[in-house]
Amino acid sequence: MSVTNRQIRLAARPSGLIQPGDWEHRSVPVEEPGPGQFAGRTRVISLDPAMRPWLDDRPSYLPPVGIGEVMRAGSVIEVTASHHPDFQPGDHVVGRFGVQEYVVSDGKGAMKIDTTLASPSTYLGALGTPGMTAYFGLLDVGALKDGETVVVSGAAGAVGTMAGQIAKVRGCRVVGIAGGPEKCSLLTDELGYDAAIDYRAADVKQALRESAPNGIDVYFDNVGGSILDAALSNLAMHARVVICGAISQYNDTTSAQGPSNYTSLLIRRARMEGFVVFDYAERYPQAAQEIAGWIRAGHIKIKEHVVRGTVDDFPGALQMLFRGENVGKLVLELA
Ligand code: NAP
Repeated sequence: MSVTNRQIRLAARPSGLIQPGDWEHRSVPVEEPGPGQFAGRTRVISLDPAMRPWLDDRPSYLPPVGIGEVMRAGSVIEVTASHHPDFQPGDHVVGRFGVQEYVVSDGKGAMKIDTTLASPSTYLGALGTPGMTAYFGLLDVGALKDGETVVVSGAAGAVGTMAGQIAKVRGCRVVGIAGGPEKCSLLTDELGYDAAIDYRAADVKQALRESAPNGIDVYFDNVGGSILDAALSNLAMHARVVICGAISQYNDTTSAQGPSNYTSLLIRRARMEGFVVFDYAERYPQAAQEIAGWIRAGHIKIKEHVVRGTVDDFPGALQMLFRGENVGKLVLELA
């Protein structure tokens, strides 16, 4: 009996929320690796908010996923056969291998990982893109200084939990904004945040005035929309507003909602700057080493939300991000 490779492909461009019919679940024959290639079996797939904008046919930092293409995704695979000098059977490798059970790769953009140091999912979370995003967003783009007041939105998510904890390592006062009382308790009771605001229940503008009475020095924004607006209304002098993401806008069919009170940047002599973490790729090894040190020292706790299933569970798991059902890094672990 020949083994088949189950894949999730993009069938149609969604309008607003992704619908089940926007995906095609397909089985194809498993490929053999050719010269200079290796083959592997997918172990863990990363779920990322950016996957939603990748489905739109509009210019971005990566080309849109094409109709009929295997859905783009970072994942960790275990090598099963290899004609590549750098990858051997049994190796675990992280790369952008897509939502499929079996992979053939020439190794471009792939990196061998050491699963004795950290679990495969951690290489997609704290030591992967979310960890790098928090690190460079806060320290480089946000030019964080020890002891400043930092506010993080999407604070209980993959990037948010890392950004807040890195700011704590730097001796900052950290306020997290997240949805729901459980997430807020996690931030203050487990992750050491100084305050947490439940944006679903509180008047965020008012709550920020109370929890950051001297103003916000660095606002690390993962969500955009009205929460960005509220943060802009409470900036300290020379504040830095780091535009990391805007998940509140990703399913909108109309144009993104811009900040109505941007003139506070002028009044506070502040700056607002967006970034794409891939631009820091050369410095990932140094950042990963520093983050791993903080984890070993107990300064940073890893938060991961693992869904166990098959690639067919990918569409459902992706929606969890937009319903706020994940705490920390969301991954799909294949049986
Ligand atoms: P995540 O925060 O783990 O998951 C998404 C979270 O967003 C949800 O758990 C939910 O938490 C919150 N959310 C969903 N809909 C929302 C809404 N309408 N308003 C407010 N919050 C909402 O995801 P992540 O991977 O860490 O990504 C966080 C952000 O970073 C995303 O915007 C992503 O695009 C961005 N990002 C940027 C870069 C870069 O290079 N710039 C790289 C990676 C990620 P609640 O329950 O709290 O609502």
